[in-house]
Amino acid sequence: MSHETETRTDASIAKGLFLGDIREGHIFPFPGLKGEERETVRMILESIDRFMAPKEKEFRQFDHEGVQPSEYIEELKALGLFSLIIPPEYDGLGLSNSAYSRVLQQTSRYDASTSLTIGAHSSIGLKALLLFGSDAQKTKYLPRLATGEMIAAFCLTESGSGSDAASIKTRATKNGDGSFTLNGEKIWITNGGTAEFFTVFAATDSDAGKITAFIVERSFSGVSSGPKEDKMGIRASCTTTVRFDDVRVPAECVLGEEGKGFKVAMAVLNNGRTGLGGGCVGAMKRLIELSIAQATARKQFGKSISEFQLIKEKIGSMAAICFASESVVSVVGHLIDSGVEDFSVEAAMSKVFVSEALWQVADEALQISGGNGFMKEYPYERVVRDSRINRIFEGTNEILRLYVGLSGMKDAGDVLKDMAKSVSGIFNDPIKGFGVLSSYASKKIGQYTPIGRQALSQVHPALSQEAAMVEQGVAKLAQGVESVLRAHGKGIIGQQLLTKRLADSAIELFVNMCVLSRVTSMLNERGIGAVDTEVRIAKYLVHASHQKVSGYLKALNDNRDHDLCALADSVIGAGGYSWDVV
Ligand SMILES: Cc1cc2nc3c(=O)[nH]c(=O)nc-3n(C[C@H](O)[C@H](O)[C@H](O)COP(=O)(O)OP(=O)(O)OC[C@H]3O[C@@H](n4cnc5c(N)ncnc54)[C@H](O)[C@@H]3O)c2cc1C
Repeated sequence: MSHETETRTDASIAKGLFLGDIREGHIFPFPGLKGEERETVRMILESIDRFMAPKEKEFRQFDHEGVQPSEYIEELKALGLFSLIIPPEYDGLGLSNSAYSRVLQQTSRYDASTSLTIGAHSSIGLKALLLFGSDAQKTKYLPRLATGEMIAAFCLTESGSGSDAASIKTRATKNGDGSFTLNGEKIWITNGGTAEFFTVFAATDSDAGKITAFIVERSFSGVSSGPKEDKMGIRASCTTTVRFDDVRVPAECVLGEEGKGFKVAMAVLNNGRTGLGGGCVGAMKRLIELSIAQATARKQFGKSISEFQLIKEKIGSMAAICFASESVVSVVGHLIDSGVEDFSVEAAMSKVFVSEALWQVADEALQISGGNGFMKEYPYERVVRDSRINRIFEGTNEILRLYVGLSGMKDAGDVLKDMAKSVSGIFNDPIKGFGVLSSYASKKIGQYTPIGRQALSQVHPALSQEAAMVEQGVAKLAQGVESVLRAHGKGIIGQQLLTKRLADSAIELFVNMCVLSRVTSMLNERGIGAVDTEVRIAKYLVHASHQKVSGYLKALNDNRDHDLCALADSVIGAGGYSWDVV
């Protein structure tokens, strides 16, 4: 605890990376579920296994028909799966974010649509009520949400407003008695057809702001939902439009402060990311088991295909990125549970990393199965279809990358501003500004390291080489951030490709830190020799990241971005691909 940021609850680890600052306090020692909660989670996992493991055929049928029968939903309710994060005083199980994420991992081993039904209810549908609701609102609704008597849905997206969530057109007009009249239509709402409780975001143009969050009950006159969407994946989950025609919403249904609805929406999405993350990890674990069974059973050229290096490469990297995903999701869950205020960048990083890890694992698992993988009789094609959505919803990965990069650079820009008194001084005067951030970074590293290099001071010595690689990556990232900010200043907003490279570098480094923490804890608990495979995973991941980060940062100054964008403009202008060989 040598540094003030380690005890502050508002210092973001991820944002620190952009200014060369390694804040390891919240990552080491590696967090895990403890005591009574661990036992509770074990019991829940066992009951999920008992309930879901025998249902493989039914899940395939639900997917085929695109529906979860109401009897099945009733069984989920009876298992208590709608009560997971609701506090015990409102009849819920009161699980922490970390424990909840672990539970969704288990349901996702068997069926992604089930996880989505539970996740849309807990992670986003009722989360605003938990985070921003008044005591009266909580007392009124949470017990009914815990039993599943009311299923919850989160209504933000509209046909004209997806990533640009602030542009919603659903309107809530304030009446003389303080109530609101709600008009508009939301699209692609998970649980839209089954929910009784909706968290709805609407434009309210008040002095305080332009968007307000509301609790809307299905029983309010004028609420309706459309038919189920016919989807590529997570087909059994219920996705519909939800319409509000002159719905009178009482004043006491305002959720949080009037005009502060955008903040509510973002807080819900940030807080809910570990649910999606846990789900992705569970699906990966199942795919790895299936792939191992397939690769050992399948013989070609007189051998099990698991003996071929190209198959080992797939299985090894599937296990490594699953381990990395589980590590980063655990750290983000812990950040939320331990009251860290500023975790939104870490949460966004985990969503991007884990959703892409699952996509890779699902694709490779299908490939290992060859032609079988393509057949509906096998589980892979469904998992590939089910996995794809994770890169789109709860914030697309493009938007989240921009959020990661720009948030990190904003903090770095603020540091530059503080140090040079004037941002324009830094941005306009290359000589004056040169090296400020990197010398700030080395000064910071110096503060951590009375004996020299070890900014990642708590990493086990068996991984000191990897710690050094991460430290070097962080220092280089800070240099990259500085050079980009000096070159573009506020114009960085339009430099999406540069922002993406910085974001991707920071994501790799943050994930590396989570993995190093986890394997360090294992080494400390079990000793060298007992965790050889985990040490290998850490070494493999950090070396792979090191190469990727070097490539991203090199390309900040050495790229063909201009050509690529000009090419895109010309193809877009032509309206298509205008070449042929005939
Ligand atoms: C199955 C399913 C379930 C869903 N469940 C819910 C739910 O329960 N509640 C809810 O409110 N919503 C839900 N959604 C909506 C979902 O959150 C949105 O689809 C998502 O936010 C993206 O919005 P969009 O589809 O309009 O894409 P768009 O915003 O139109 O984006 C299209 C593409 O452009 C990219 N893009 C957009 N802006 C930029 C930019 N500035 N720079 C670079 N690239 C950009 C995007 O990344 C994306 O690749 C669900 C969607 C689906 C498909």
